[in-house]
Amino acid sequence: MSRDVSSSDPRCVEVALPVPLFRTFTYRVPPTMAWPIEPGTRVVVPFRNRAEIGICLGPSEPPAGVTIKSIQAVVDDAPSLPQPLIETARWIADWYAAPLGLTLRSMLPTALTQAATPRPTQKTTRVVRLTQDLPSLLQREQLFARAKQQRVVYELLEAQGGEAPIEALRTQANCSAGVITAMVKRELVEVVDVAQARDPFVNREGVTPPPNPSAAQREVIAAILAGEPGHMFLLHGITGSGKTLVYIEVLRAVLREPKRTAIVLVPEIALTSQTVDRFRGAFGDDVAVLHSGLSDGERLDAWQSLRRGERRIAVGARSALFAPLENVGVVIVDEEHEGSYKQSETPRYHAREAAIVRARAEGALVVLGSATPSLESWERTERGQATRLTLPDRAGGAQLPPVQVVDMRVVTKAALAQRAPNMPYDETLGVLSPPLLAAIESRLERGEQSLLLLNRRGYSAFLQCHACGDVPVCPHCSISLTYHRLPEALICHYCQHQESVPRACGQCGADAMKRRGLGTQQVERLVGERFPEARIARMDVDTTSGKWAHTQILDRVGRGEVDILLGTQMIAKGLDFPNVTLVGVVDADTGLNLPDFRASERTFQLLSQVAGRAGRGPKGGDVLVQTRIPDAHAVRHALRHDYVGFVHEELGHRRQPTYPPFVALANVVLSGTDQRATAEAAQAAFDWLRQLIQKRGLRDLVLVGPAPCPIDRIKDRWRWHFLLKTAQPRLMSRVARYVAERCPVPTHSALRLIVDRDPVSLL
Ligand code: ADP
Ligand code: ZN
Repeated sequence: MSRDVSSSDPRCVEVALPVPLFRTFTYRVPPTMAWPIEPGTRVVVPFRNRAEIGICLGPSEPPAGVTIKSIQAVVDDAPSLPQPLIETARWIADWYAAPLGLTLRSMLPTALTQAATPRPTQKTTRVVRLTQDLPSLLQREQLFARAKQQRVVYELLEAQGGEAPIEALRTQANCSAGVITAMVKRELVEVVDVAQARDPFVNREGVTPPPNPSAAQREVIAAILAGEPGHMFLLHGITGSGKTLVYIEVLRAVLREPKRTAIVLVPEIALTSQTVDRFRGAFGDDVAVLHSGLSDGERLDAWQSLRRGERRIAVGARSALFAPLENVGVVIVDEEHEGSYKQSETPRYHAREAAIVRARAEGALVVLGSATPSLESWERTERGQATRLTLPDRAGGAQLPPVQVVDMRVVTKAALAQRAPNMPYDETLGVLSPPLLAAIESRLERGEQSLLLLNRRGYSAFLQCHACGDVPVCPHCSISLTYHRLPEALICHYCQHQESVPRACGQCGADAMKRRGLGTQQVERLVGERFPEARIARMDVDTTSGKWAHTQILDRVGRGEVDILLGTQMIAKGLDFPNVTLVGVVDADTGLNLPDFRASERTFQLLSQVAGRAGRGPKGGDVLVQTRIPDAHAVRHALRHDYVGFVHEELGHRRQPTYPPFVALANVVLSGTDQRATAEAAQAAFDWLRQLIQKRGLRDLVLVGPAPCPIDRIKDRWRWHFLLKTAQPRLMSRVARYVAERCPVPTHSALRLIVDRDPVSLL
């Protein structure tokens, strides 16, 4: 296979391979193959006794005195990765200290990285589907009076949007096939084989044409279109201000030029199906929707249609940034503040930042949009790196809803004072205050809809023994297990470990296990008991495991089949339902006390975004926020819809000690299976870096730590970390790469070091 290269033969290329190494490789191109090979072309090469698919980066000088192996095959007729994408990959690799080969691989659909010429496969799944509408709690009692197991199955299905694969359902419900057969006989459900789950983004009917832009929108659109190639805009438009229409009109204008293309990033496709519908409504088959529900084959199809120029607009989450389009004229990042834009595995890139880099390489306009821009983007406009555009009013004459705060300390004290002697006080009041109950009731009477937000899934936060105080924790993670009621189990939200619910305390044996803290399942039960006639739907990770569960639940809300939609942060984003006239935040405080410098920013964003779901139609709306810390600045400013006020106060908190956006931050995490070895390795890595910094005189670099991570064990791995801070981004790139590549980490105890630059979470 390997041959010596005669020094007169210049036909060598640099190839990036999908291996965790910070270098590229040189291969020889045999005379039988066409020359030159364009950068971005996939090639098959021998590597460590196997054939690997790599990306050709261009011609390379053969290193002297080394044996060089030959390329086995050139796979693509045309490069799989256009030049601007290779530039983007180089930037990602450099900025986030990631191996270039792994970065390039993450840009391609899986099918193209596993086989030279992939063949998509199709298979069918057997699914169970509800045939009837949501019954109220009252009807339900009658329907399942003597069929408990059927009820479990029914409610599991309902919670998953009405449809689920039969195997998964039986496991969840722990029931025999007979239960489902009986339900089919009663015509409660049907069982069908589907070739592949229905893609909600294909052939959606009833999409209304977009309205004409208002004067304010037209002004913003004109400003964007007047931007020089590569210019960046931050569109700060309040919730309901009609940002989507701005995006659509900008796309329309840019795409008027033949062969121009565009990329639209949205945080999570399943949660933004309404927005995606609007793009499809405006541009039809020109849009390729890239979402996580696609099979490898479907993803390949979408990728190829973009590569061939059959579709000109890529809409999708993070990875749509890598759409193989050429001649990109505009890149839009909707909800640019969203943490889900950060990739949590190597390469740990932030899609917003990488999108900006790609746009620059393409000479494309960049539009970042949000009602609650990230502090990073806001700071950019202050420094003149981006132009700020504002839509201060809601479209179509709608008003921002008034927000009323309910101080739960006062509610609890009143309930305690009013209870009859020797009676426990009404627990429901600590969850659903009288003003919130009254507000929900009035919506039910008027046939309007309510959203209830609680950002904690499960039934209770945890179990605790009242006799000894013990709390069952996950055997693999340092985190308490969450109590789930349907099906009943203790579940770890980090590693999905499950166990049955103990009757007695594992520590002291007392029969005094009590549920503490509040989860969405419990709110669902309490609301159901209070309003037995109401049609309630719950949306959280547990109810949306099915492929299209989100869309199905939201479609039901849109058709008016749901009176109360209850859920975690999933319901806070992007929803535009004019008949929602009430938003209730059950507990505003769930995220405020996390040990993370972004806790306030996240809480402000969440409260502002969910408040923005109310009052989008002519009926107006109200927001009720229940809290025990009404003075927290995140809560205070959210109540007044005061983004600018919040930003100014929060930026003040980021100066001392300094945090982004005033410094670049990297989180170096060491993990391993042995507690002591992990702590020692973290200390050793820290000392190694501190010495290096002293030796090189890098005074602008600050090291903080080392310390155990706030969650100091996940999936059986102990975790320690330390922080790197510097005001010089370039210095951070150099040091981060140096640490990732050179930091000595012992090879025992499965020790591993990762460098997470610009982390979105420090937990
Ligand atoms: P945002 O994304 O800024 O929160 P949306 O783009 O969802 O807001 O728009 C909110 C609502 O206003 C949508 O129902 C949209 O159809 C409507 N809308 C947008 N622009 C106009 C306009 N110029 N005239 C009337 N309605 C509009
Ligand atoms: Zn766990």
